[in-house]
Order: sequence, then C-alpha cells, then structure tokens
Amino acid sequence: MTGQARQETQETWVRCEPDPPGDSEERPVDIHQTRIWVRAITAAMDQNKDRLTQLDSAIGDADHGVNMQRGFTAVAAALDGYEPAGVGDVLVKTGTTLISSVGGAAGPLYGTFFRAVGKQLTGPVAEPAQLAAAFEAGLAGVQKLGAAVPGDKTMVDALAPALAAFGAAIEDGQDVGVAAERAATAAEAGAQETIALQARKGRASYLGPRSIGHQDPGATSTALVFRALAEALTS
Ligand SMILES: [Mg+2]
Repeated sequence: MTGQARQETQETWVRCEPDPPGDSEERPVDIHQTRIWVRAITAAMDQNKDRLTQLDSAIGDADHGVNMQRGFTAVAAALDGYEPAGVGDVLVKTGTTLISSVGGAAGPLYGTFFRAVGKQLTGPVAEPAQLAAAFEAGLAGVQKLGAAVPGDKTMVDALAPALAAFGAAIEDGQDVGVAAERAATAAEAGAQETIALQARKGRASYLGPRSIGHQDPGATSTALVFRALAEALTS
C-alpha cells in the first residue's frame, strides 16, 4: 500500500467511527410511557392467560394465568384516575396493587419487583441509566424474597438475562427502546431455556426430575413484561 493510499484509508476509518458511548442523545422515560408499559402488560396477561395457566397446570397449580390477569386488571383500575408525581409512583402503585390482589407466590414477587424499581425513580422522568439501576434493585428484591438464583427454573431465569441485556445496551449508549427490545429477546430466550431445567424453587420443585421438559410459567410471564416494555418504548 502506498503512503497516500494508507492515509486515505485511515481518514475513511476515522470518518466512519461511531460516536463514543454516552455521546448519543439519551431519551428518558416519562410517566406517560410508564403508564403505557403497565397497560401493555395488562393486555399481554389478558391475551396469554390460558397459555400461562396451561404451563402452570403442567408443573404447578394452574393458577398463574388467572392470577396475573386478575392482578393487572386490578392495577389498571388502580392507575385509572391516579395522578403520579413521578415515574416511580406508577410502578410503586402497580406493585402494591399486585401484592394486595394476587395470591400465591406471583403477587408478592412481582409486587416486590415493581415496588423496588419504583422506589428508585423519584423524578418525573427516568434517565436510561437510572432505569437500568432501578431494574437491578428490582431483581435484588425478587431474589431476596424468593431466594432463587439463575438455573432454579423461576422468573429469575428470564429477569436476570433481561436486565443484563438492558444494562449492557444502555451502557453501550443505545436508545432505551433498543435496550428494551434486547431485554425482551433475552427474557424470551431465558424462559425457553427453563424447559431443560429441573425446578429447585417453588411448587414445581416438588416434582423433581418430572419438572424437566416444561417451560416455567413465571419466566414466561416475565418475558411478557419485557416484551410489553419494548412495545411501550418503541411505539
Ligand atoms: Mg401457581
């Protein structure tokens, strides 16, 4: 390569280099989008009620679909007419309503997740990095309550990879909608991967090896929560 050609190549390379992380315009999440997210979860639980119940009937007590639908229907009612001061208020209200309206393990676990996330977000908007950190607080709350780790065949098997993907995308300077898409895809993959796992937590663990071959209902509903987030932040 001649000296001139090399110089041109280098100039081209410099011109094509992407903006360094953090330089791209960061789009925060506002109260309206947070409401749209929760509304999209309610719609998803309506649409997937029978599927979640089928999954739970294979390795649990067949109430997950009806529990999640009942819970998010109550959330929609609680948010109707509610005037939140911050993004977190929407999520704390969501969590509190789930705890009071859903029986079994799902109510306290999802309720704790939304409350823990919401408590971190006190402003009228949440910056992407704040949201990523708040999600981690939500996961910590779920794991503290449920004592589940990845691989136990629980909602954590969808939640942990979703949040890892979300955080990595935000750190990489991606738009919050892109981060949510990646989180949803990671949650769906994590839920799929529970099929091969033997349950070590919850009612399904009583089945021992017979729990293998069935997708975990909690991981499946968690994937719905993140697909709803992706819908809300890309619409
Ligand atoms: Mg159940």
